[in-house]
Amino acid sequence: MADLQIDNLAKTFKGGFEAVRGISLDVADREAVFLLGPSGAGKTTTLRLVAGLEEAGAGRIMIGGRDVTQWTPRERNLAMVYDKHSLFPHLSVFENLAYPLRIRKMAEAEIRRHIAGVAETLQIEKLLERRPNQLSGGQMQRVAIGRALVRDADVFLLDEPISHLDAKLRARMRVEFKRLQREFKATMLYVSHDQLEAMTMADRIVLINKGRIEQIAAPQDLFDRPETLFAATFVGEPPMNVMKAVISEANGCHSLRVGDAYIEVDHDWMQDGEAVKPGGNYLLGLRPQQLHLCPPDTAHPCRVQGTVFAVETLGSRVVFDIEVEGQVIRAMTTLDAALKYPRAIGAAIAFRIDPDFIYLFDADSGRTVR
Ligand code: ATP
Repeated sequence: MADLQIDNLAKTFKGGFEAVRGISLDVADREAVFLLGPSGAGKTTTLRLVAGLEEAGAGRIMIGGRDVTQWTPRERNLAMVYDKHSLFPHLSVFENLAYPLRIRKMAEAEIRRHIAGVAETLQIEKLLERRPNQLSGGQMQRVAIGRALVRDADVFLLDEPISHLDAKLRARMRVEFKRLQREFKATMLYVSHDQLEAMTMADRIVLINKGRIEQIAAPQDLFDRPETLFAATFVGEPPMNVMKAVISEANGCHSLRVGDAYIEVDHDWMQDGEAVKPGGNYLLGLRPQQLHLCPPDTAHPCRVQGTVFAVETLGSRVVFDIEVEGQVIRAMTTLDAALKYPRAIGAAIAFRIDPDFIYLFDADSGRTVR
């Protein structure tokens, strides 16, 4: 295995569309790095540039300390996994797995030994004689992964390898992938638009938007300390609530207005991170998980009154959509706690805000201020 370094990589397609605009990142030996971002962000193009399937307009790609930018895909010694369609339908599972080894002119005995090891790990030993159309989606995916694993590749590149599977199988494959990555000590660059996949499987996430990197961080850091409004709203389910921030000053004290509440914030709050200027153009961010429902008659300075707009149960969690001055704010709570509150549309409800969990963004630049 090897490390991967990408330096200022760029790609402009014919017609002038800049799909990748100066991406730099490192994947350490044996690290799993995820490229996460919305559709069209440039994730697949970045992966294809690393694989050598697209020619870079600018930038450099280093694998194991060697500059491979001008190398052919084969010379780069990478293994790529797409979705199930990459299996050869007319070949048995065994022959699908053997294919990359035969290309490399590996001896037959060696091929059998290699495949036996990988098949055991992936628990596909009993499927080796079958054709791809005799496999379930999950089995097919394991074979596709197996085909990448049999070749001692320097780096694994995966492009949404499990996105077409059903939810239950995806959940199992997430765990399986993580185990395989550890077992095979694989260096992995993995493209996904699914934050759950990235949050649960990645060592680090590279968040991409419009061909540029928004943030590189460990999953929990990305959730706790998003550096931009985009990162804050892309990661987290349900998404962060965002509203215009109204900051006022009276007698040297500052407060933030949310609906009917004036939430007093102290000097530290105003100075934490970038100094906040009253009257500045800011956006306020509140995570649904960090809003606490309370009865509307609660006397609390951080209590915001609203009315029930909709209520949705998601397994053990309940999401209340609460209308506050014409805007819907989502608050998430547990099934038990939700029982105490009305669900009828239009019923009065309230929530409390903890000033420590208020995010603030510069409305012009989109950067996180605090
Ligand atoms: P998705 O999650 O939908 O796969 P992505 O982040 O992987 O999205 P890319 O496939 O990298 O996005 O595409 C980035 C942008 O480049 C898109 O707007 C796409 O339309 C454009 N693009 C991709 N390939 C080409 C091409 N060969 N010619 C022109 N434009 C292209």
